[in-house]
Amino acid sequence: MDLIRSAADLARLDTLRGVRPLVFVPTMGALHDGHLSLIRYGAELGPVVVSIFVNPTQFGPNEDYDAYPRDLDRDLALLKPLNVAAVFNPPVQEVYGQPGGVTIQPGQRGTGLCGADRPGHFCGVLTVVAKLFGLVNPDVAIFGRKDAQQCLVIGQMVDDLKMSVRLIDAPTVREPDGLAMSSRNRYLSDDQRRQALCLSRALQQARVRIEDGERSVKTLIQAMTADLQKADAVEYAEVRSVPDLMIPETVSGRTLLAVAAQVGPARLIDNLVLDIQANEITDSCLLDTGRDLWT
Ligand code: AMP
Repeated sequence: MDLIRSAADLARLDTLRGVRPLVFVPTMGALHDGHLSLIRYGAELGPVVVSIFVNPTQFGPNEDYDAYPRDLDRDLALLKPLNVAAVFNPPVQEVYGQPGGVTIQPGQRGTGLCGADRPGHFCGVLTVVAKLFGLVNPDVAIFGRKDAQQCLVIGQMVDDLKMSVRLIDAPTVREPDGLAMSSRNRYLSDDQRRQALCLSRALQQARVRIEDGERSVKTLIQAMTADLQKADAVEYAEVRSVPDLMIPETVSGRTLLAVAAQVGPARLIDNLVLDIQANEITDSCLLDTGRDLWT
């Protein structure tokens, strides 16, 4: 496993380019099984490059950039058995030059949901993802469906800027009790950990309501908001169409159920992506490009 720290040394990736696609999994480190599932899937497609980079520009002024967990040795030990070809772990200066450089603003999909609660967040995400795509030049990039809006905002950037990378959204990995895995779960006390279960439960109960025939977005949002009351503060409970993230009046076809809430010191998000047909409700994905690769 090659540990690469500078842009210049990324030339070493050229030995990996060939018949199989070069697969890229961007992360901020503090790896857990959610990250590892993306990497395991990627390894089936081709050689995998993982980036570990805590991106300063996607954190707001009052967010946890300084406190964000960083433990490179632990992360490398977790990656070693996974047959990862290279890890890119640049210092901030290597990615961002002087202030005043080019940034990328999200399109319409970046408004609302996390875009409303975290101004500037998706600009930071898109800017760093574009830089990392430019540096690594992958054929395929894998993102977690857990960050649904992020997947769709990046998908729109790749489409609109005609970037030649294929995107895949991989399913959310959960703890046995349903809590979506997150690097921020480690901020939670035992009591807060129990409180945090209200996010995945609100989503599951919404799914049951839909399976029982409920189609009104207003009713589903009211029920999810009520189910989230164990959280310290509800940021949003929303229902959106996929992939455009519009607000429908009734649910049908590919649909995102998304929640965000503050639990103790952690801002947590979770979602379900469903394909809602008259006779059948099934799990679905966000990005069409991944559909035939990830089933
Ligand atoms: P992060 O390090 O939080 O930026 O996450 C790196 C990648 O892992 C992103 O594409 C996330 O969506 C994905 N990811 C984070 N948590 C999970 C999870 N529980 N299941 C699947 N993917 C995840």
